[in-house]
Amino acid sequence: SIVVTGASGKLGRHVVEQLLEKVPTGQVTAVVRSPEKAAGLAERGVRVAVADYNAPETFDGLFAAGDKVLLISGNEFDKGRVRQHSVVIDAAKAAGVALLAYTSAPGSLTAALADDHRGTERALLDSGVPYVLLRNGWYHENYTENLAPVLEHGAVVAAAGEGRVSSASRADYAAAAVAVLTGEGHENTTYELGGDEAWSFAEYAAELSRQTGREIVYNPVTPEALTGILAGAGVPEPVAAVFAGVDAAIAKGELVVDSGDLSRLAGRPTTPLAEAVAAALKD
Ligand code: NDP
Repeated sequence: SIVVTGASGKLGRHVVEQLLEKVPTGQVTAVVRSPEKAAGLAERGVRVAVADYNAPETFDGLFAAGDKVLLISGNEFDKGRVRQHSVVIDAAKAAGVALLAYTSAPGSLTAALADDHRGTERALLDSGVPYVLLRNGWYHENYTENLAPVLEHGAVVAAAGEGRVSSASRADYAAAAVAVLTGEGHENTTYELGGDEAWSFAEYAAELSRQTGREIVYNPVTPEALTGILAGAGVPEPVAAVFAGVDAAIAKGELVVDSGDLSRLAGRPTTPLAEAVAAALKD
């Protein structure tokens, strides 16, 4: 069967929904740590397995030989994600799965946030399990789900300078994952995934202005200033520093992905940022 971890997360939900459009329900297993979050899927006939990256024994016997598995990276930054992900890799190896795809980060990204992804990639390659690295670029939603302070202050505040980002929607990255999980010939391949068009924060601010009819400017700040602003807004200082580090990486062009892999795998152009903005403003 096709097994998706992190199935109750925002990306995982898109993946499961798109899988259900392509394969019979009985072929899909959703792995979650909180079964109540998957009650709707269970009602629809999806097999739900309960397992936690922090508890290796919960993965015992979860995978079967020949399964195709999508390991969606976790979000517990303080719990040793490489060790967590290795729990899944070890269980997949023991079961003899046919494929283990992992949601990583662009190969060009050197920010601290990428360290866990590089460590997980190494563990996966060392395991000898047939792998696919889905090196996901940034989500549109990282920005469009956080519009309230931007609209309140009439400013996009970032430490990205004039750097550009090839973001795409979670649904786009999910489509690439589904193509890999349901297609053939992807073994031992690395995909660099990003949106078809890279944009700058000045362009993002201009698009927000256009769609809201209000003046929204780009206010570029230094990474240190951004860390302070985020900390002042209640973001824990280490997390604020990680976000600022991402912006610094953007300034250096590390989140521009121009491989074309995402639209090729999805079989269609990626979602334009303007469309994601319009959807967010409607909510
Ligand atoms: P979410 O935070 O919505 O999903 C994370 C998923 O991981 C959730 O399903 C969560 O379970 C699951 N998870 C976390 N810890 C554990 C654990 N210990 N055991 C089992 N499951 C666990 O993030 P998204 O879906 O938006 O993104 C997926 C991943 O991509 C993120 O976790 C992160 O690694 C990365 N990411 C990428 C971004 C990008 O722009 N490319 C931006 C942000 C994150 P539960 O539902 O129970 O919480």
